[in-house]
Amino acid sequence: MVRFTVLASGSKGNSTVVCGGRTRILVDAGLSCRELFRRMKLADEDPETLDAIIITHEHQDHVNGLAVTARKLGIPVYFTEPTHRAWMRWLTPRRQMTYAQWLEQCRKQAAEREAEPEVTVLEASAEESDPEEAGQEEAEIDCQTPAAETPQPANVEPGPAGEPVAPEPPSNKPPSMKEDPTWLPAVEYFRAGEPFSIGDIAFSPFTIPHDAADPVGFVLSAEGVRMGFATDLGYIPPNVKEQLRNLDLLLLESNHDLEMLRDGPYPWSVKQRVLSRVGHLSNDATAEFLSSAYDGQAAYIILAHLSENNNLPELARVAAERALLGRASLLANRLLLAEQHQPLSAIRF
Ligand SMILES: [Zn+2]
Ligand SMILES: [Zn+2]
Repeated sequence: MVRFTVLASGSKGNSTVVCGGRTRILVDAGLSCRELFRRMKLADEDPETLDAIIITHEHQDHVNGLAVTARKLGIPVYFTEPTHRAWMRWLTPRRQMTYAQWLEQCRKQAAEREAEPEVTVLEASAEESDPEEAGQEEAEIDCQTPAAETPQPANVEPGPAGEPVAPEPPSNKPPSMKEDPTWLPAVEYFRAGEPFSIGDIAFSPFTIPHDAADPVGFVLSAEGVRMGFATDLGYIPPNVKEQLRNLDLLLLESNHDLEMLRDGPYPWSVKQRVLSRVGHLSNDATAEFLSSAYDGQAAYIILAHLSENNNLPELARVAAERALLGRASLLANRLLLAEQHQPLSAIRF
């Protein structure tokens, strides 16, 4: 059984659970850990059974709960290398890090993981329970203390009588969020254009045009079901059109209505960014794709990442319905709208 459950979609947080065979993956972790778990339970998914988290890009609405969730569950995070690096920089903004220093930090974290390979879910939960109780947002503001500024106890220091003090035994706990907010139980890299698998789910990652370090979309397949995933892109270039074929499910951005964005509350610079070739897809751009390059094969089309300020669900729906005119039926091109504030019912194949 394949299940596809959008937990949240929009500029305040994005996250989807995909289950195929014996594997369960969280695509993006843009809500607080607590909220992710709450929504998974609402959607009848058990967070404890997740096998991994995979990240499309480092914008906050895709990674907000990442570190706490990965630590709590003790599961690996899949990134592209530039996205991992950009995410680490985002969490330690006051710390200047050269590429060499970044590599060194990755090596150090890998050694820490090596030293304590069996972080159980229970230990990880206890570790993070306080920040979670205090609320994810606060925890993450706390987490922005640069690791370099955290006082490090020296291992050997002369005691008052000049006697050396015994070195502290090596800690067998992972560093706390305060000590190292970028620490993760395990990190795996993938590259756009190079397919790979996590358990029973195959991923085909592709580059999308967006103002992030190395943003990607995916086609996921499991048990012969193909699911396309493309949000946060300024336009749909040929490589993305190529990928979004022969799908059973297509989750596609329909971010804004052009007029609402032009007349809306955003400052001009932000409007320019959203409208740019590395911004977000408008309802019209999505409709243009659906009426031309799209092959009409998907059983489900989910419109996603709708702006709450610059769009209305009805506008997005009507634009897509017009584009799909004559092609929508109970078996093909059923149109759904992903929501910001509640999960969509699971789609099952
Ligand atoms: Zn986004
Ligand atoms: Zn983004």
